[in-house]
Amino acid sequence: MNTPRLYIVVPCYNEQEVLPITAPMFLDKLGQLAAEGKISADSRLLLVDDGSRDGTWDIISGLAEADERCIGIRQSRNRGHQNAVLAGLMEAKDSCDITISIDCDGQDDINAMDRMVDEYLGGCEVVYGVRSERKSDSFFKRTTAQGFYKFLAAMGAEVVYNHADYRLISSRVLRELAGFKEVNLYLRGMVPLVGFKSTSIEYARAERLAGDSKYPLRKMLSLAADGITSLSVKPLRLIMSFGIVVAFLSFVGVIWALIAALSGRTVAGWASMTCIICFVSGVQLICLGIIGEYIGKIYMETKHRPRYIISERTWDKND
Ligand code: UDP
Ligand code: MG
Repeated sequence: MNTPRLYIVVPCYNEQEVLPITAPMFLDKLGQLAAEGKISADSRLLLVDDGSRDGTWDIISGLAEADERCIGIRQSRNRGHQNAVLAGLMEAKDSCDITISIDCDGQDDINAMDRMVDEYLGGCEVVYGVRSERKSDSFFKRTTAQGFYKFLAAMGAEVVYNHADYRLISSRVLRELAGFKEVNLYLRGMVPLVGFKSTSIEYARAERLAGDSKYPLRKMLSLAADGITSLSVKPLRLIMSFGIVVAFLSFVGVIWALIAALSGRTVAGWASMTCIICFVSGVQLICLGIIGEYIGKIYMETKHRPRYIISERTWDKND
């Protein structure tokens, strides 16, 4: 096998503080892997600007001018981390043999790339980076993130535990992934669906080198909703089962009411009535909300809107 051409795909959103620190680290890594003969010398660092409002694009353009191994693309507006990663992967898929996607904040251990490439050379098409510990994350981030994986599993969405978007994907898998046309993106769940031989490697997650997290609770919740709705219809089934239980209970209630009325023991039961009405209408609203979430997703899918729009490039893709 020829030495593979690697593209490191890095989404960046308002990362002017951390990019000048981490971009040289990624380039050093490319140099080291190429020197060891594991990847080809024309491997690239592909920085995807996700519509940043700060100086991120200027930094990327500067880096691209200074080093031909660094290239950048820019999304026409902020579309979110998943879309930025997908834009980068699709940009790279025809030019490379393998991609490694990684966050630009230095939290994911760059040195784990050596083992990822080794696994690829050993025959794996997908290598998931899995966090061995979360000591560096705050208590809140750690518990919410772990609760998120457990909840996803309970809702029938199969995901690799503790795997974020740090992974190696071969161009062969990327070409198949390109056939997954959904707008509701949850890459962590989609890549396992493509199949092919895969494995995981562990790495310790460190702290952000600079800047603040771009994933507030709001974005995490929306990612969780996307994850569940894109991978599973279990919530709809749970509603169904719950509806059956409630229907059964009301049937029993009707019989009980009839017997009570016939035996002349009916009294003004305002409190019990109110409780039942409140409870059942609450349950109905939640169920409607869940169904609405799916209908909203169906609506978005039927529009077939593009998942990303690239407004600028520092390179000519057809070179
Ligand atoms: N990111 C992005 N678009 C967004 C939000 C985040 O491209 O709308 C990128 C961000 O620049 C970083 C990665 O996604 O490279 C992960 O974000 P962050 O480190 O802020 O998330 P956390 O590690 O705190 O979950
Ligand atoms: Mg981070």
